[in-house]
Amino acid sequence: MTLCEFCVLQQADNHCSLGHKTPAKMRCVDFAPGINRFCATPADYAGQEQLKQMALFFGIAGRELKRVMAMGEPSKGSEMVKP
Ligand code: SF4
Repeated sequence: MTLCEFCVLQQADNHCSLGHKTPAKMRCVDFAPGINRFCATPADYAGQEQLKQMALFFGIAGRELKRVMAMGEPSKGSEMVKP
């Protein structure tokens, strides 16, 4: 797996919309994760923990992992419930 496969900026021909080369490591300053890149079927999405497990499994860490987690957060307008 490459980081680009989880990024909405990857085009159908596998090229980056921004013209970047596919990063050799799971790091990219413009990484823009898409939930549909993790779960082909939205019904399969089971929440942030699932996203985190998948991201960690594929070696996504650091800033890129934070972006994945931010994507899975409830929308800003909804009520946040702290555990
Ligand atoms: S922005 Fe980075 S991660 Fe996204 S497709 Fe381009 S090179 Fe890949």
